[in-house]
Amino acid sequence: MGTIICQICNNTIDHFENEKVATLYGQCNCCDEKQEEGSK
Ligand SMILES: [Zn+2]
Repeated sequence: MGTIICQICNNTIDHFENEKVATLYGQCNCCDEKQEEGSK
């Protein structure tokens, strides 16, 4: 099983089934909101 980790705060966002990839980096909803506010 793979894990999706937030590249900003390193929190575990979600898990997924994948034979080749163990870890993916993404953004959690919390950091998504922060980035949108910062781009204004
Ligand atoms: Zn985050």
